[in-house]
Amino acid sequence: MPDEPLTEEKIIREVPRMTLDSTFTFRCEMGVACFTRCCADVSIVLTPYDIQRMKKALGLDSSEFLARYTISPFTPDQKFPVVLLKMNPESRRCLHVTESGCSIYRDRPWACRMYPLGLAQPEQTTSEDRDFHFLIHEELCQGHGEGRTLTVRDWIEEQGIEEYNMMGASFKELMLHPFWNGEKELTPAQMDMFFMACYDLDRFRRFVFETRLLRLFDVHEARVEAMRTDDLELLDFALQWLRFSLFQEKTMKIKPSAARSAGRADSREGLS
Ligand code: SF4
Ligand code: SF4
Repeated sequence: MPDEPLTEEKIIREVPRMTLDSTFTFRCEMGVACFTRCCADVSIVLTPYDIQRMKKALGLDSSEFLARYTISPFTPDQKFPVVLLKMNPESRRCLHVTESGCSIYRDRPWACRMYPLGLAQPEQTTSEDRDFHFLIHEELCQGHGEGRTLTVRDWIEEQGIEEYNMMGASFKELMLHPFWNGEKELTPAQMDMFFMACYDLDRFRRFVFETRLLRLFDVHEARVEAMRTDDLELLDFALQWLRFSLFQEKTMKIKPSAARSAGRADSREGLS
């Protein structure tokens, strides 16, 4: 019988919650009968840090990486753009899977590292509603109940998930912003701005350095220099810029000269 889909509601209501000290027994290595079966026909949502790691591992520019290895489906009720890992349209297998496993193993996405653990993030309405881990049991995965017994904490450490959590913290904050629960919607131009700043970082770099953006905002010289080559510094700036532009938060400081010209423009508009 096929697995029943795990909906968000089902996870929050029915699935046993695990703490960092909860244990599970699991074996996943070359030699298990199901080896790499989980790398097919799967929806893997990519974070900005996932994309940054993978495009670097593959030696690609972000725009090229996105075009070759991802899809960005769009539905009318979608609040912001999402990027999914592309599967081979015929075999439905991930484009990075080989006979001996994942060809980008050291830089595989957060979701691939986590499996078979899931992370639920209930809306925090009571003190009981905290993020929790849970075990994903799918028929295709035969690793359960075999091999080592380890804690959730051990798994997170062994799979290098903590680094991904740390690097993804600002993006997670952006995703959980109350703006998304409101009535306002992003315009197509804002959607593109979001896509570029979060996912297409090399295009965002050109936008930063080839437009008048840096003439408008007060950004420390050392930070500007770092953003020329350091993707993580640029991503941090990109997320602050999005919060400033989309949510009108004071995450960026406008240069006094830019504020004065804006003021002059406003007063001219007032006179016309
Ligand atoms: S990125 Fe690697 S681990 Fe993730 S689905 Fe593709 S082959 Fe599997
Ligand atoms: S299906 Fe489960 S045990 Fe098999 S390779 Fe994937 S994670 Fe490992």
